[in-house]
Amino acid sequence: MDLSGKTALVTGSVQGIGFEIARAFAGAGAAIAVHGLADAVQAEAACAELIAAGAPEAKFFGHDLSDPAAASALVGAALEWRAIDILVNNAGIQHTAPIAEMPLETFQKILSINLTAAFATMQVALPKMAERGYGRVINIASVHGLVASLHKAPYVASKFGLVGMSRVAALEYATAGSRESGGVTVNCICPGWTETAILEPQISARAALHDGDRAAAITDLLSEKQPTRRISDAGEVGALALWLCSPIAHNLTGTAIPVDGGWTAQ
Ligand code: NAD
Repeated sequence: MDLSGKTALVTGSVQGIGFEIARAFAGAGAAIAVHGLADAVQAEAACAELIAAGAPEAKFFGHDLSDPAAASALVGAALEWRAIDILVNNAGIQHTAPIAEMPLETFQKILSINLTAAFATMQVALPKMAERGYGRVINIASVHGLVASLHKAPYVASKFGLVGMSRVAALEYATAGSRESGGVTVNCICPGWTETAILEPQISARAALHDGDRAAAITDLLSEKQPTRRISDAGEVGALALWLCSPIAHNLTGTAIPVDGGWTAQ
């Protein structure tokens, strides 16, 4: 897989799944527009690791995606740096509570970051990809874009929205480019439990029921939903994202691919 000469903007790539996607792209030789909420130390460390992994360049952008105007501005700023061949909308947040107890402002913030920001970035990036005949948009949704769970109303709403919106974008850009140029595709990856910081509040809450035993909490959470009972490593999502960027994937568009240990097979 060779992404040399290509540039990827990965939102939320200073850590977690976004970082591992960026690392997979860097390993294939892509330049990386690194993004996230991070201090200078974390941002510099992420850029340095991506360059060590093979990226010819890595530049940090710190736009706060709770503001849709900042999401558009992020793509504008990245385009001033380089043409964007690959856009990964990965930044996301979670908050769990029953609907009756979910603050309205929390609902709106989750929708802004997980859904509206992806609309705003695609709106700027996709026309440029179409002009060039190659483009990949990979939206990191979730199993919660395919099925529901208790106490996750805003998250589930945002991820179902992301899956639906990605299908529309895939249709709108289906004829852009050619087999030779690679075409413009828009897909979602839908992870199940994947070991990153976003899970910590849920793991801690469950660990409290097991005398603070974190491993028991993870086993408990997995056994409820994820039939393989194996938690995913973020690098596994990175490997799939990299494959989606290959020219051979030109006809794979409008999909929502679960990486969920059989969660949504049930
Ligand atoms: P994480 O908490 O490690 O990463 C979240 C990223 O989003 C961070 O880089 C952070 O800087 C960025 N971010 C958060 N708020 C932001 C804001 N206001 N503006 C800009 N950036 C912001 O978690 P993760 O698991 O790596 O999450 C990445 C994506 O994967 C999310 O969309 C999440 O919903 C999705 N996902 C994760 C899991 C899982 O089990 N870890 C499962 C399904 C889907």
